[in-house]
Amino acid sequence: MRKYVIMGVQGSGKGTQAKLLASDLDLVHISVGDIYRWHVQYHTKIGAQVRRAMTAGELVDDALTESVVHDRLALHDWSYGFVLDGFPRNRRQAEFFMERYDVDAVIHLDLPDSEVRRRVLARRLCAGCGLDYNLIEHRPAKEGRCDACGGELVSREDDTEEALAVRLADYHRLTDPVLELFRAKEQVVTVDARPAKAAIQRTIRDHLNLPQRRRAT
Ligand code: AMP
Repeated sequence: MRKYVIMGVQGSGKGTQAKLLASDLDLVHISVGDIYRWHVQYHTKIGAQVRRAMTAGELVDDALTESVVHDRLALHDWSYGFVLDGFPRNRRQAEFFMERYDVDAVIHLDLPDSEVRRRVLARRLCAGCGLDYNLIEHRPAKEGRCDACGGELVSREDDTEEALAVRLADYHRLTDPVLELFRAKEQVVTVDARPAKAAIQRTIRDHLNLPQRRRAT
């Protein structure tokens, strides 16, 4: 059984790395953000409670998030283990988690704020079909237009310089202390999140003494 928490600032690629790690090791990828997005999409009662905070890029209420994580882990569909992505995100959540669960390691994807800014401000979304673009890695053939449907490419409402500054400051204020708490109890592996995604995955596995992926990523 292998149990990991993955942490990293927005844009650090933690969802991507969590999925790569989980896929061939039979671990269950548990993303709190994905669970909340599902609730919003299907208009559940929880969806109604979290929508406003999510749209504003703020954290959802701690008690609700703790019960969502508790209920998800209580399903016990993770007989080979899990990669928990997006939790804990502040001191209270970390204390809740550490009182109840043990993990083998915490994977910390480290990305300087300047690089977060560069990546996030390059994100675009097609106003027509919703396809994601990142102008650093994936430029459309025709500037400002979607390759798939020809729709206009726009920035997400919360991807402005000002909103990003607030989110980064919140992340450092609330989430940096979580790493300190974990360091006192668990193995924390810090990995540079700037190289290509396959190289990052290899480094994570080296640090955790895990077999490398067989297929190219
Ligand atoms: P993510 O996909 O991890 O960026 O999460 C998307 C959104 O879900 C966040 O902006 C929060 O509104 C909410 N969320 C995810 N994880 C947590 C958490 N641990 N505590 C509170 N809110 C969360």
